[in-house]
Amino acid sequence: MDLGIAGKWALVCGASKGLGFGCAQALVREGVHVLIVARGAEALQAAANKLIADSARPESVSVQFVAKDITTPQGREAVFAMRREFDIVVTNAGGPPTGDFRDWDREAWIKAVDANMLTPIELIKATVDGMAARGFGRIVNITSSAVKAPIDVLGLSNGARSGLTGFVAGVARSPLAARGVTLNNLLPGKFDTDRIAAMVGATAAKTGQSVDDIRRAQQAQIPVGRYGTPEEFGAICAFLCSVHAGYLTGQNVLADGGAYPGTF
Ligand code: NAP
Repeated sequence: MDLGIAGKWALVCGASKGLGFGCAQALVREGVHVLIVARGAEALQAAANKLIADSARPESVSVQFVAKDITTPQGREAVFAMRREFDIVVTNAGGPPTGDFRDWDREAWIKAVDANMLTPIELIKATVDGMAARGFGRIVNITSSAVKAPIDVLGLSNGARSGLTGFVAGVARSPLAARGVTLNNLLPGKFDTDRIAAMVGATAAKTGQSVDDIRRAQQAQIPVGRYGTPEEFGAICAFLCSVHAGYLTGQNVLADGGAYPGTF
């Protein structure tokens, strides 16, 4: 299927690896120009090279990168200094740490809310009016299955991302909808990335179980029987960004291999 977005410009945050990289890769494969962001310059440069090498038409796509912290005003300024207008924005940053809510002070909460709620809101605010003026726009926020099925040790994520989810639900139904701008959230369950590796590693250190045993047990809990891949995640993201998804807005799209047990 031709997604109809070749030649569009996308901003993809948190894209030097993992799910953000998967999204950037799927978009570049569709002929979308991308500006990717992450803090580590070396990994980001390597990711940009990989995106170009992977593209079927390397001469017809641009891949730019900005090595900044997207959760800071300076980071976002650097992005918009590079390019002001985007047709597609994929918001993403690292997830907050796990822990016990009794240990989280105001500073921990502000950091989580900044990264996983206010940063996407700032990026949406900076881009949707330009999208509406041009009659096409796609916002995809990478959130988490924890928005739908909260995980106790991920309270910072459950809380901050739920705030974003409520905000997006309202804006998606604003007059922007009739001007070609869709806003959706894409909720990963368990995908095989460094984030999952870090969380499994932490569980192994805490419980004394082996990493392999934990991975096997986790995957056995997922009806599909395995973790998802960043490539699969990117393909869903690219569809949400496509011309075919113009009637799909304000939704929370869960990609979890069937792990959520509810009918809806
Ligand atoms: P990952 O493999 O650790 O990759 C995170 C990416 O984001 C890296 O490129 C990282 O590069 C970048 N990043 C982190 N903080 C950033 C910041 N402040 N500014 C700019 N870039 C930043 O993580 P992932 O698994 O792809 O997860 C992506 C998001 O989905 C996270 O919020 C995570 O909590 C959420 N999620 C993931 C899963 C899963 O199964 N993987 C499940 C549920 C939710 P630098 O460190 O160099 O900046």
